[in-house]
Amino acid sequence: MQVSAETPVQFLKGVGEARAKMLAASGIESVRDLVWFFPFRYEDRRHPTRIAEIGRHIESPVLLRGRVISARAHISPLKHLKLFEIVLEDGSGGVKIVFFNQNFLAEQIHRGDRLSVYGIPRATVGGHVQIESPDWEKFEGAEDEEGAIVPIYSKVGNIPPKQLRRLIGVALDEGLPSMADELPAEVRERLGVGPLVESIDAIHRPKELTEEFLRSRSPWHLRIILQEFFAFQLALRIRRAGEEVRRKERRIEISDELREEVRRVLPFRLTDAQKRVLKEIADDLQSDRPMYRLLQGDVGSGKTIVALIAAMIAIRNGHQVALLAPTEILVEQHYQRISQLLDDSVVVAKATGSMNSGERRTLLAGLRDGYVQLAVGTHALLEEKVKFKSLGLAIVDEQHRFGVEQRQKLFAKAAAPDILVMTATPIPRSLALAMYGDLELSVIDELPPGRQQIRTEVRTSSAAERVYAFLEREIATGAQVYVVYPIIEESEKLNLKPLTAGFEKIRKRFVRRRVAMMHGRMTAADKEETMQRFKAGEIDILVSTTVIEVGIDVPNASVMLIIDADRFGLSQLHQLRGRVGRGERKSWCILIHDEDQGAAGVDRLRLFAETRDGFEVAERDLEIRGPGEFLGTRQSGVPRFRFGNILRDHDLMEKARDAAIDLLNEKGLSHAVEVASKLLGSDLAAVTRD
Ligand code: ADP
Ligand code: MG
Repeated sequence: MQVSAETPVQFLKGVGEARAKMLAASGIESVRDLVWFFPFRYEDRRHPTRIAEIGRHIESPVLLRGRVISARAHISPLKHLKLFEIVLEDGSGGVKIVFFNQNFLAEQIHRGDRLSVYGIPRATVGGHVQIESPDWEKFEGAEDEEGAIVPIYSKVGNIPPKQLRRLIGVALDEGLPSMADELPAEVRERLGVGPLVESIDAIHRPKELTEEFLRSRSPWHLRIILQEFFAFQLALRIRRAGEEVRRKERRIEISDELREEVRRVLPFRLTDAQKRVLKEIADDLQSDRPMYRLLQGDVGSGKTIVALIAAMIAIRNGHQVALLAPTEILVEQHYQRISQLLDDSVVVAKATGSMNSGERRTLLAGLRDGYVQLAVGTHALLEEKVKFKSLGLAIVDEQHRFGVEQRQKLFAKAAAPDILVMTATPIPRSLALAMYGDLELSVIDELPPGRQQIRTEVRTSSAAERVYAFLEREIATGAQVYVVYPIIEESEKLNLKPLTAGFEKIRKRFVRRRVAMMHGRMTAADKEETMQRFKAGEIDILVSTTVIEVGIDVPNASVMLIIDADRFGLSQLHQLRGRVGRGERKSWCILIHDEDQGAAGVDRLRLFAETRDGFEVAERDLEIRGPGEFLGTRQSGVPRFRFGNILRDHDLMEKARDAAIDLLNEKGLSHAVEVASKLLGSDLAAVTRD
């Protein structure tokens, strides 16, 4: 029978129904799947050890080659174990090899056979050396023939490793040579990679184990990495192109009048970085394709004002703007800041879960008939009922708090809205590229002038009293402080005990100070009131969970004290740290950890204390926790690749992205879709659906 990539595995020799099922359970259904099932390590079995020398290799694997001089199956009288024992002899000496509960081997291995054995010599109680249940193979070549480098695959059901290797070998021999290369030749050339067939074969059956090969960075591995990166980036681009075919109807103009108004409204001079990204955004707004841009910047770099100017541009051109924020506190803060800045020249409305039905009706009507020009809201903005007259620009603040579907809901509220998403915590470029390869990237890489340096200190809990004394002195100068407990607001079961206990402790310690508590279980109105009082300086110490993590702006706060700091991710700590140092006051971030915190945990905190740059913190956090954890459970869209590592290989990701853009530009969307579906099959739908 002619075997091709499409041939189902059950048509291969040695695959019955049971094995086909096991293979399918591991995602292997066709010959193609089989050859794409790569080894995760290799064993070099080329150089046999002389049996006389195995005493020097106790507990480390050796390859032996010799003749079976005795073979005997019996049941051990002591433990009722079925034993099959052979003695292998190679001219230098002999060794006993024992197989447990595999007495069927007596049918397969006979006295006089020549075997290749790969196993671990162990010293027995009696002082002999023996090898237990090794890998073995009948050795048919000449005595001095080289052995092989053996690929080791992860387990598939209970298919014996040797059988699995054989099966893959058959697929490689019979199915691989005729397999089509799914990367078009011009893409291959652009990526600088060789043919697929050769690469797959080399990864399964390497001739040499070079250091580069073992790091999965040989030219053959690069071919696989780049193919996967390219397919992913192409899919992202296709998704984006699908949105772009809808050209914008609206015309955006930036008149001198509008420029003048913006200048009038601005309470400060924009930094050069703010000006640069603003220009990028303004260009997008004026083009006839919808904007799709990610705005990044460190905590406190001034993303909000940039977004607001973008909003003004849309509004003055007759369009509505939606600003989505993750918490009611943040919505309130944006609302107030906008109202302050714009006076009555723009009609702004809030949309939150705590609106009463009257407020809700007014809002819905105002959005529908276009009276409301700017809507600031939480998830409440996403409801089906919320309809805009003419939504021109959708802005998502702290976008990592929202899932892809939620963003999609907002974007669906207009024909082709311009979209600006902002991150709370900087995402390293590598991850941004991997996750948001379809977004243009703007980065504010400069802080506004006059920012206070925040000193970060690491202390053990035994130093708490000294820290409190320090807080006392700070408060005496009129400053305010935050105390944060590690209660993650997103978890289902919110256990507030550590927080309430902490609150009581702080209250007792600071009897003459105004201490308040805040957490996610409070009603929105209570939270808001507490926050307002803190902003107004009516609270000295705010004891809180991470609800204050994102975006809160109180310039008079000068100390961020974080309890059990080791329980936070570095990026989260950086967010919290960013809550202070926002005004004139010299500011501190103090991290308290348990006495018995391991050295690694303390090192991590020290590292954080020394790192001020949010992008750098993010890189380290990402290294330590990996992309899934780093982004939190809400963001599931981190792609996985066979050999590619989105952190280490960002240059390759960039290359793949450029090649994807080129292909799309040069050959058009339908060709790109064709290429992508060959590369990804049904996975294409998964990427483009998001
Ligand atoms: P983030 O990027 O973290 O969202 P914000 O937009 O909240 O930061 O800005 C942080 C603070 O810096 C705010 O109080 C804001 O008014 C102020 N700010 C922003 N841009 C400038 C600037 N160019 N000059 C001075 N202060 C600025
Ligand atoms: Mg912000």
